[in-house]
Amino acid sequence: MSRRKQIYEGKAKILYEGPEPGTIVQYFKDDATAFNNQKKGTITGKGVLNNRISEFLMLRLAEMGIPTHFLKRLNMREQLVKACEIVPIEVIVRNTAAGSICKRLGIEEGQKLPRPIIEFCYKNDELGDPLIAEEHIAVFNWASPSEMDEIVNMTFRINDIISGIFAGIGLKLIDFKVEYGRHYQGEEVQLVLADEISPDSCRLWEFGTNRKLDKDRFRQDMGDVEEAYQEVANRLGLTPKSGTGEVTKLEIIKS
Ligand code: UDP
Repeated sequence: MSRRKQIYEGKAKILYEGPEPGTIVQYFKDDATAFNNQKKGTITGKGVLNNRISEFLMLRLAEMGIPTHFLKRLNMREQLVKACEIVPIEVIVRNTAAGSICKRLGIEEGQKLPRPIIEFCYKNDELGDPLIAEEHIAVFNWASPSEMDEIVNMTFRINDIISGIFAGIGLKLIDFKVEYGRHYQGEEVQLVLADEISPDSCRLWEFGTNRKLDKDRFRQDMGDVEEAYQEVANRLGLTPKSGTGEVTKLEIIKS
């Protein structure tokens, strides 16, 4: 992995220059952080699983007409993606109240919202990714009004599609975060879904029991963190039995 020029290192991923212009290699680490970097740890095998889970979801979304940055998976921890200028906004969808909305508004965790809602945060680690209004996005020119229309429409479609995928494997999509990028090709600019979609960026609760199968197990020291990520992958069929051959416990330990 060090044969390539590193472009950026984030909390859970490293970006390297891709083999061709306009491409980037996204490397998934096992590192986990929470509460604005105050809690740090390792979730063994997370990078391998998130690489595979995010690939699966991005491919399903692309089939449904959502443009994504994903090009192909290269190996257990790396995928090739389109180089993008990241829109500095985290787009959050909530179907059920959990996490920061509960603290902020005094709402009980698990309360189903009457309809999905969207929130925006400004991507800035030093400021702790503060919640912002659409007005801030417009006035500071972080995204144009037409880009925001596309972002909002795409995000609600993504919610519909992945809620359905997770419902099909017995999991309730409580909330999730997505990011978008501008992919430049000559004169053309295309807005694409970027970053990742994985149990790092989604809350997933088992139907019936409300058992958490996501990063909240790490945030809240609930134990069985690795097992939760593995279970999401298994339920999606990303196991050796399905012929993919990558996501076995043995291989994760070796990687
Ligand atoms: N999220 C994320 N990255 C962030 C902040 C949030 O992936 O920097 C995800 C988080 O995993 C959850 C959703 O976005 O699925 C909503 O997160 P929330 O605002 O409740 O913040 P948190 O409780 O994670 O601090």
